[in-house]
Amino acid sequence: MILVIKQNHDVKQLDNLIGWISGKGLKVNISHGDNTTILGLVGDTTLVDIELLESLDIVESVKRIQEPYKKANRRFHPDDSVIDVKGNKFGGGHFSIIAGPCSVESEKQIIQVAEAVKAAGAGLLRGGAFKPRTSPYAFQGMREEGLTLLLKAKEVTGLPIVTEIMDEKHLDLFRDVDIIQVGARNMQNFELLKQLGKVPNTILLKRGLSNTIEELLMSAEYIMAEGNTNVILCERGIRTFEKYTRNTLDISAVPILHERSHLPVIIDPSHAAGIASLVEPLSLATAGVGADGLIIEVHNDPPHALCDGAQSIRPEQFASLVTKIKGVLNVVGKTYN
Ligand code: PEP
Ligand code: MN
Repeated sequence: MILVIKQNHDVKQLDNLIGWISGKGLKVNISHGDNTTILGLVGDTTLVDIELLESLDIVESVKRIQEPYKKANRRFHPDDSVIDVKGNKFGGGHFSIIAGPCSVESEKQIIQVAEAVKAAGAGLLRGGAFKPRTSPYAFQGMREEGLTLLLKAKEVTGLPIVTEIMDEKHLDLFRDVDIIQVGARNMQNFELLKQLGKVPNTILLKRGLSNTIEELLMSAEYIMAEGNTNVILCERGIRTFEKYTRNTLDISAVPILHERSHLPVIIDPSHAAGIASLVEPLSLATAGVGADGLIIEVHNDPPHALCDGAQSIRPEQFASLVTKIKGVLNVVGKTYN
């Protein structure tokens, strides 16, 4: 981190600042130029509050040289992390697919969809039990009962399951959930993230609607700092001025995240587009851009879905999509599963 000190600064104030920084265990290199004084901070600069430094009278500007995330940073972990969920691998050249309905609606529905996506080649089943809906009057999910049905579908099909947690109070209910999803709306629910850092389950962390890539990595850092390093990142579209899609898929987030982090990155084309016909082209782009997997909404009767029917594809469309994705994976040299 580099601090530019204002011209004509108070020497005593500068001494105090240097003493305060050194007290945090950081080394301070001082460079006195003709017009400016520059401090170079060496060590773990996550310990200093950049905004606090910027607000000081004698400080002209502050520039971070190293990223504020450590455990998620590729600099300290050059190899890709490979996350293996019951034989489904994400990262390090492996690509897996999670598929299923937006929400669990009944035993018949979740088991039918689970069997269909399994037959089509999906490795994991998704299904929301606790749903984050914009309106309190919209279907909120089957909650505990939905989780029970999802566990039943896991038992029947053998597919590991992925479902969203909204409240740390529910953590006990999620013990047998293979991947716990943190939805876009909770990406910065820091208390929830800290609790998820203490469990053995894999965490699927979705990017917030209006969050930067660095903020996504800082949220991953919250989980990892508590000990849980099984984190999969998910780009699911961000909010822009564009109205023809529900969100805008930030496809460049994938190579950027891969450059900066060792964690696997998957894409959710369903929530990114909000339109079923866009799911296939965006999924093929996902495989092409080098992502490590997909999470796709599949419903057996989209027009009657209780949530997100417009963006859900049918099982037969999903089956044809999986075949095409395998073709792209062959071209980019990735292994399916
Ligand atoms: C979901 O996966 O059903 C969901 C609500 O996703 P997101 O948090 O990305 O909106
Ligand atoms: Mn949904």
